[in-house]
Amino acid sequence: MVARAPSTIRAAVLREPGDVRVEEVLLDPPGAGEVLVRVAAAGVCHSDVHLADGSLGEGRWPMVLGHEGAGVVEEVGDGVTHVVPGDDVVLCWVPSCRECAACRAGRPTLCTVAATHSLAGTMPDGTTRLHLPDGTPLQHGLMTACFAERVVVPAAGAIPLPGGLPLWQAALLGCGVMTGFGAVGNVARVAAGESVVVIGLGGVGLQVLAAAKLAGAAPLVAVDRDPAKLALALERGADAAVDTSADGHPVRTLRTLTGGGADHAFEVVGLPETMLLAWKSLRPGAMAVVIGIAAKGAELRLPALELSTDKGIRGSFYGSGDPARDLPGLARLAADGALDLAGVVTQLDALDGVVDALDRLRRGEGVRTVLVLDPERAGTEPAAV
Ligand SMILES: [Zn+2]
Ligand SMILES: [Zn+2]
Repeated sequence: MVARAPSTIRAAVLREPGDVRVEEVLLDPPGAGEVLVRVAAAGVCHSDVHLADGSLGEGRWPMVLGHEGAGVVEEVGDGVTHVVPGDDVVLCWVPSCRECAACRAGRPTLCTVAATHSLAGTMPDGTTRLHLPDGTPLQHGLMTACFAERVVVPAAGAIPLPGGLPLWQAALLGCGVMTGFGAVGNVARVAAGESVVVIGLGGVGLQVLAAAKLAGAAPLVAVDRDPAKLALALERGADAAVDTSADGHPVRTLRTLTGGGADHAFEVVGLPETMLLAWKSLRPGAMAVVIGIAAKGAELRLPALELSTDKGIRGSFYGSGDPARDLPGLARLAADGALDLAGVVTQLDALDGVVDALDRLRRGEGVRTVLVLDPERAGTEPAAV
């Protein structure tokens, strides 16, 4: 068999921290157990900023960035049966192996095989399908690398979508929606009538809010230091907003608003001080769920005596469920109109807009930029918002 030549695609490459450029790279054809997807749209997430700035540790470059996306299957490798060319798919950035101890224990988002290769920026066989024209291997960002015209992903990284959902909206399912809805439904299991505090109303925080609203949470309190984000949260169903840039006593305010302490608090920022605020906003016996990703080395200090009130705090990674099970359900919710995705997209841009989109996230401006790589398949032009 003659090895097929790689194709040339445009992609956003992190050459080194602080240096992201859109350039031509080479993409190998899919191997056995892999899928080639033409990317229609990709959301720009805060984790892309962490990677672009090098704050998740050494050695994670050069890399093609992007892990929240949707597109159309163009080709499948040997042994792939769950999708065929022409299928719409959402990309899943933890393509679990289904065989390691974590997977067998029903915790596929903690798959140790996926974690190892995600950290190394490789496919499950330890190699890469991406190269610079001079042959330098490029890492696959979170095993996805979807700030690119095409991606090759492990079969488990391409989840088929039901019809009726434009791909520029479906892209958001792959990270922000899965993460936010999973934390509410799989971890906190918010019930109707329970009070919920959401700290940080960016792309993921707004999905926590949406999931809590659908679960019937009340009151639903949004906390941020940006009045524009709080205004959007109020529009999207929050009962109250607390602006920490203006309120000198946010703990007192939150305890008042929740009648003595919240039943659930979600931290979606990634800073020790906001994690502590989540903890302090709780009633005895309640649990804080930390979704935000802290910088490497950051430490969280808690008043240890308060553990004697049965309070808890735990992390949630990528929704803590099973994306292969959860993503099609979330897609149906959006296709049926129960979950509005369009309203959280604050900017649509072409692939070349990625550098500006990362800068907006660094400045805390706007919520979600979606890069439109294929307007026809995405269902929108780049400048439509
Ligand atoms: Zn993300
Ligand atoms: Zn596994």
